[in-house]
Amino acid sequence: MGKHICLLATGGTIACEEGADGLRPVLTGEELLRAVPELARCGEIDVIELCSLDSSNLLPMHWQRMAQAIAERCGQYDGFVLTHGTDTMGYTAGALYYMLRGIGVPVALTGSMLPLTAAGTDARANLRGAFAVAASGRAGVYQAFAGRVISGNAVKKVDSTARDAFRSIGRPQAGTFALADGALTWQVSEEAQPQAGTAPQAETVPRAEMQSQAGASQAQAAPQEGPDAGTQVAFAPRFALDERVAVVKLVPGAEPRLLTALADAGYRAVIIEGYGAGGVPTAASPKNFLPAIAALRACGVRVICATQCTTGGAHLDTYEMGVLAARCGAESAGDLPLEALVPKTMLELAREGGR
Ligand code: ASP
Repeated sequence: MGKHICLLATGGTIACEEGADGLRPVLTGEELLRAVPELARCGEIDVIELCSLDSSNLLPMHWQRMAQAIAERCGQYDGFVLTHGTDTMGYTAGALYYMLRGIGVPVALTGSMLPLTAAGTDARANLRGAFAVAASGRAGVYQAFAGRVISGNAVKKVDSTARDAFRSIGRPQAGTFALADGALTWQVSEEAQPQAGTAPQAETVPRAEMQSQAGASQAQAAPQEGPDAGTQVAFAPRFALDERVAVVKLVPGAEPRLLTALADAGYRAVIIEGYGAGGVPTAASPKNFLPAIAALRACGVRVICATQCTTGGAHLDTYEMGVLAARCGAESAGDLPLEALVPKTMLELAREGGR
């Protein structure tokens, strides 16, 4: 029996054509659908045009609109496909994963590194994969991209030009789809435990080639979170976000007063992207971050230590740098990528309420 799928379009490279100042999204969801007629084989498809933006211009309020659009229709469809720019797709995937926990149908985010209208585009294959996920009956929020199916809380863009631009971080890749026909293979069960990912070599699409093709046609939170959000908890969508989450990337010589300045500016959570296993410079350094962490905690600001490493996660129990930070009240980001950690923290802050 055919499925009933809802396609939500938001812009991104997949919808881009060459404009006077470079690529910009112009194609509607209807136009994307018309250009890939084989998608209709999966059944009946309705289209919602949510916005037409480069994903760098998306805000948390757009995550809310996406989540609301899906939540209010989820009884009417077998699955959802959301087309999106790749640059911030990891954040949106993370946001929807947490906002739509317990959703009973699949939600598949996709996009492409080359515009749909470009020669050799990856858009068709990615759309086929996303529709296969949406029609699969396997509930939860996923990204379908370049043959990979990745849980929404594990999506990281690791390459700015390769077609195979994403990796699953902190948990096993959820599945694969065949680029030719979108045929799906799930690789992990819903109960699978997360583990550190690896980043295989990616195929590079030279930026010049990409542009000419376009022009030619115009806290250790993760372990209890399985790769499939949909089947583990009752559906209780959450839309409230507190955006006062800042990220500080440590560099040698960074000033601890960065933290206090952010607290003074009203931020309610500061994520520190530290080195290696996480942790911060201690009293052995003239740039000791520990007093600043203690000061933030004393005024109720959350401090979360993450790592600059792509894989492996933060482990505050390994080095003094992490143990002492934790003793001052810092939490560990665990193995969550920043893309999932930021929206998760925004949701938690909103739920906690406060000033
Ligand atoms: N700048 C584009 C976007 O994120 C990149 C892409 O979609 O690949 O909207």
